Amino acid sequence: MPLLTGIEMEKTASDNALAMPDRNGFIPLCVPEIDGNAWAYTKACLDTGWVSSVGSFVDRFERSLAEYVGVPHAVATLNGTAALHIALLAAGIQPDDEVLVSALTFIAPANAIRYCGAWPVFMDADPSYWQMDPQKVNDFLKTECVWRGDKLWNRRTNRRVRAVLPVHILGHPCDMGPILELARRYELIVVEDATEALGAVYKGQKVGNLGDVACFSFNGNKIITTGGGGMIVTRNEAWARRAKHLTTQAKSDPVEYIHDEIGYNYRLVNLLAALGCAQMERLDAYIVRKREIADRYRRFLKDLPDITCMRTAEWAESTEWMFTIYLSPDASCDRRRLLNALQAQNIQTRPLWCPLHRLPMYAAAGRYRIEVADRLHEGCLSLPCSVSLGSQDQERVIGAIDRIFRI
Ligand SMILES: *Cc1c(COP(=O)(O)O)cnc(C)c1O
Repeated sequence: MPLLTGIEMEKTASDNALAMPDRNGFIPLCVPEIDGNAWAYTKACLDTGWVSSVGSFVDRFERSLAEYVGVPHAVATLNGTAALHIALLAAGIQPDDEVLVSALTFIAPANAIRYCGAWPVFMDADPSYWQMDPQKVNDFLKTECVWRGDKLWNRRTNRRVRAVLPVHILGHPCDMGPILELARRYELIVVEDATEALGAVYKGQKVGNLGDVACFSFNGNKIITTGGGGMIVTRNEAWARRAKHLTTQAKSDPVEYIHDEIGYNYRLVNLLAALGCAQMERLDAYIVRKREIADRYRRFLKDLPDITCMRTAEWAESTEWMFTIYLSPDASCDRRRLLNALQAQNIQTRPLWCPLHRLPMYAAAGRYRIEVADRLHEGCLSLPCSVSLGSQDQERVIGAIDRIFRI
C-alpha cells in the first residue's frame, strides 16, 4: 500500500501506480507520510458509508486546524487553489482590482486572483529569507500608487489596489510585521497563502493567524496531506459563512434547490477529511523530523563555499518544509547540471518555480523591480526532505553533492 503514496510532485502524479519509479534505491524529493490513525479514520468512513460531502470528519478537521492555528473559523475545500479563490471572493475582491503577490511562488495564488477577474502585481523576494520583500512593497505603494478620495489607485494602470497576498514559501514565514503595517496604512486586505507553511511561527504567532484570511493546502507534497485538499481560516465570521456558502454551490435553502448566486462545488469530502484528522495528530512530529533533516543538511553542506543553505530569520520558526540550497553564479556546477547529476544517481531534486511574471500568461502583468526572485530561480534547488527520509539516504544525498563540489 505505500506504493500508492509514491512520488507526488505538485500535480504531476503518475496516471498509473504501476508506472511509479522503482522505490529501490530511489530517493524521492518529498513523499507523504501516512501513519497514526489514517487507516482507522478512513476505515470508519468506508464502514459507515459516510465517504462524501457530509460527515463528522469534515467538521472535526476544520475545528482541529482552526484550533491549531488559533483562528475561530475554518472552511475545508477541494484543494489549496480553490481555498485561495474563495478566500479572495469572500474578502470582496472585485474584477479589475489589483492584488500584490509574491513573484517567487507556485502559480496557484496568481491564478486564483485571475479567477476573480482581478490582476496580480508581482513583488520581489528578499535576499535573506526569500520571502515577499516588505521594503519593495512599501516603495511600490509609496511611489506607484495614489489616493483618490478614500480609494488607493495604481497610477500606471488606473486600477484599484485592494489587497496584498504574501506567500510563506518553503515553510518559512514572510516578515509579516511590516506587511501588516503597510496594509493598515494603505487599507489593504491581507490574504495569507500559508499552503507551504502550516505550523510555521512568526514572532510567536502561527502563520494563518496574521492576515485577514489565510489558506492551507493538503496536496501530496505538503507537510500534511489528504491526497488533495485545502482550508480557509479567518477571524471574520461573515467571511467564513460566505466561504462555506460559495464552496457548496451557494445553496440558500436547506431543503429546496434554491441558490442565491453562482457558487462552486469546492467541498472537501469526508473520506479525505478523515485522513486530514489523522494527519493533524501527527503534524508536530513531522515538523520535528523536517527540522532534523534541515539541520543535518546545514551541518554537512556548510563547508562547501558554492552552496548557501536556506536560512531561518531570528523572528521566525520555520517548519523547513522543503529544504532548498542556493548555488552561487560562479559555482563549479550550476543547478541544472546538479539536478541531472543527482538524477543519474537516483536522487530526485527540483528547481524553484519560474518567477510568475516570466510566464506567458503573466508577461503583461504588473511587477515592481524584480531582481532577487530571478536570481533565486537561477540558483536554487530543493533537496530530498520527506519526513521518512532515513539517515543513510540523506548521507547518500550529502555525499553525492559533496563529491560534485569538492574538487
Ligand atoms: C501547494 C500550493 C498551493 C495550493 O495548491 P493545491 O495543489 O491547489 O492544494 C497554493 N500556493 C502555493 C504557494 C502552493 O505551494
